[in-house]
Amino acid sequence: MSNNKDCNRVIVLVVGAGPAGLAAAIKLKTQKPDIDICIVEKSADLGNHNLSGAVLEYEPLHTLLDAASPGWRDTDAAKEVLANVIDKDNIMFFLGKFLSFNILFVLKLAKIFGIGFGQMIHEGNYSVSISKLTKWLGQIAKNLGVEVLTGFAVSDIILDESSGMATGVKLVDRGLNKEGHKQPNFVEGEIIYADFVVLAEGCDGLVTEIFVKKANLQRQSPKLFSVGVKELIKVSPEQYQKFTSGRVVHAMGYPIWTPVLGPGMFGGGILYAGDQDHLAVGMIVGADWKYCDFNPQDALTNFKNHRFVRKFIQGGQVVEAGAKMIPEGGFYAIPREPKTGNIGKANVMILGDSAGFVNMLKIKGLHNALDSGIQAANAIMQSLDNPETAASVYTRLVDKSNIGREMRAAKNFRQTVAKFGPLQGMPLSILGRFLPKYKVENDYEAMTIAKYRLKPNQNFDKDTFTAMAATAHREEEPSHLTILDPQVCKTKCTPLYNSPCITFCPAGVYEMIHNDVKPANSSNCLHCKTCQRKCPFDNIRWTVPEGSGGPRYKRM
Ligand code: SF4
Ligand code: SF4
Repeated sequence: MSNNKDCNRVIVLVVGAGPAGLAAAIKLKTQKPDIDICIVEKSADLGNHNLSGAVLEYEPLHTLLDAASPGWRDTDAAKEVLANVIDKDNIMFFLGKFLSFNILFVLKLAKIFGIGFGQMIHEGNYSVSISKLTKWLGQIAKNLGVEVLTGFAVSDIILDESSGMATGVKLVDRGLNKEGHKQPNFVEGEIIYADFVVLAEGCDGLVTEIFVKKANLQRQSPKLFSVGVKELIKVSPEQYQKFTSGRVVHAMGYPIWTPVLGPGMFGGGILYAGDQDHLAVGMIVGADWKYCDFNPQDALTNFKNHRFVRKFIQGGQVVEAGAKMIPEGGFYAIPREPKTGNIGKANVMILGDSAGFVNMLKIKGLHNALDSGIQAANAIMQSLDNPETAASVYTRLVDKSNIGREMRAAKNFRQTVAKFGPLQGMPLSILGRFLPKYKVENDYEAMTIAKYRLKPNQNFDKDTFTAMAATAHREEEPSHLTILDPQVCKTKCTPLYNSPCITFCPAGVYEMIHNDVKPANSSNCLHCKTCQRKCPFDNIRWTVPEGSGGPRYKRM
């Protein structure tokens, strides 16, 4: 095992400085202060690529910080990041543009009777900005001596074929031009060698998926996703006061599901308080939508115009915006080694959203991401002399932990909804784990020629949305988006579906140019990866651009 301080060789290498990766590093440093840990993060600054709902169950965070940083509760950062404790939990059903009903009592009844979605109650939790949470945790990690390298993207994981162990990761080359030729400033991506590799890239992580393929991990069910689009709006002090800082609204029904007439999609709207005079409004839609002209931003527009929402945000100014996907496949979509069931292999562990630890009964995953970091740290501590056992120790700890309990309890929920639709699927999911494992299709296979009935009159202003995400990439770098077969676009997709990527990409990256669909504005990309999972012909590949590219979220 390595002990030297060469920056190209560390004991623990974490890919991704999100909550899961940072929790792993903090927990490890708490237990073993002299261990070398390096975190590689593709965003320009901590928190820039983190966007979330974001209700946070506090237990894993408190456990982590009580050990790592006693007195953390009294710090200014803690007071700012954890300022909003939820004391008003609205679970709403929207019927059409005007009517709304608070159905929290239904969930409370479900909780009393031990029915799964009774877990969807948020009172007592924090509503947080995950960007701020990440930045704060990153600073704690740095203070403990963790090396956090922002602006460095990873393109590959290197496996030793004879041992099956990972030897390290390769960083993305810098300084190529659009055609892929080396420019004078070309720097070849270095290899960082490590004894342990922790994959904590977030949803649909590129290196994670490369590793899943190389190590032959498998999922019992396809990955399922939802797409979230979100805006942070500065409202008047009166509107903020009326809403109150401890309130969280989750709304189902209109505009993505309505009885009889449709549309019939899974998901809902969110509205919660940010810092002073700011409200976050968002729309989360299951990526198995079937409408070829649908864009989650259209649903967001309708949601913002609903009478219940409008009164809180009317006249407000959008100050930040963004989009991302959420892994919803649950228990059956966790990548595991077929023989052992390990969530990883040998000295490689997969954490948080990269593994898919979102509990769909709670619509929460942040607590599980943090907890998976804690479990990975414990696994490394137990495997210091035998790195090849880390993944199996980690899996044992995860399966025994609250993550394992939650994932097993919620294991059929999303598949049931995907199979039967929200109307039948939600009630049926009451039977929970007693249901059989349904065979479901990939999200992209759900596309049809049907049209979204509630399309707003005006197209969504994607330019402003993208500007509010402050996204940027070096203009001269090669495009990180590839259309595999342009003929498929021309001969199949455009005649049948009218090129849905042009509509659903939240940043307007795809355009029709001289009858060819192209990722013409790849520098606007928000790294949500929706195109890769929703192109109806599975014809788009997203790769990691040079480090520092992408959105620059600060308060999402
Ligand atoms: Fe259709 Fe995919 Fe081509 Fe876009 S990239 S036009 S969604 S096949
Ligand atoms: Fe998201 Fe793809 Fe559009 Fe980028 S190009 S913003 S990954 S849908």
